Amino acid sequence: MIIAIDGHSSCGKSTVAKELAKRLHIAYVDTGAMYRTVTLFALRRGFIKGDECDIAALESSFKDIHITFDFNPETGSNATFLNGENVEREIRGLEVSGKVSMISAIPQVRRHLVEWQREMGKSISLVMDGRDIGTVVFPNAEIKIFMTASDEVRAQRRYDEMISKGETPLFEEVLQNVRERDRIDSTREESPLRKADDAVLLDNSNLTREEQFEWIIEYIEMKKN
Ligand code: C5P
Repeated sequence: MIIAIDGHSSCGKSTVAKELAKRLHIAYVDTGAMYRTVTLFALRRGFIKGDECDIAALESSFKDIHITFDFNPETGSNATFLNGENVEREIRGLEVSGKVSMISAIPQVRRHLVEWQREMGKSISLVMDGRDIGTVVFPNAEIKIFMTASDEVRAQRRYDEMISKGETPLFEEVLQNVRERDRIDSTREESPLRKADDAVLLDNSNLTREEQFEWIIEYIEMKKN
């Protein structure tokens, strides 16, 4: 079984996806973390200058990028590794967040990561979250959910999360980043962010985590029967 969860930035997709993976005892793949890790790699190698990326250099380095995850189904915690190094914290920072939509709009990067994502879903059941899972990566997924919430609610959640990790972001900066990523993600040429026609829409602006989770579980039960 493939469960595809897509939606806008910071609307809680990964929280839901991890919770589902835990409850259903299946794997979880965070595709946003994959785009973030490629972005971190490009930044470290100096391939990104302002709003430009040296695509040829990045493409010829794909072979040097090995991304792995350590998902703990008991606790629901997930860590991302770049060539064996735990980069979970670094890929969530504002530097990577500010460049990731630019990197994920590059067709060569998308093709490379999509191929990899499809490979993962060939042999096992999984929950995958991202922007194009229900439209491009797994158009035949059994369950497709498209999540959203208002810009302010999403920015506030992201801000609270960063504060809880000891960071000191400015709310306006976080809001700006959320909006800018949505804009770039929805308007890019290669597999833009959009709801698949057969995905169910979930606006969680006014739902608690528990209410939202119950809603999803009911929806999955209904689809299975
Ligand atoms: O999900 P998350 O916010 O961590 O994703 C970071 C960025 O990666 C998104 O803003 C988007 O640019 C890109 N992304 C994508 N396709 C996906 C997952 C993420 O383009 N399937």
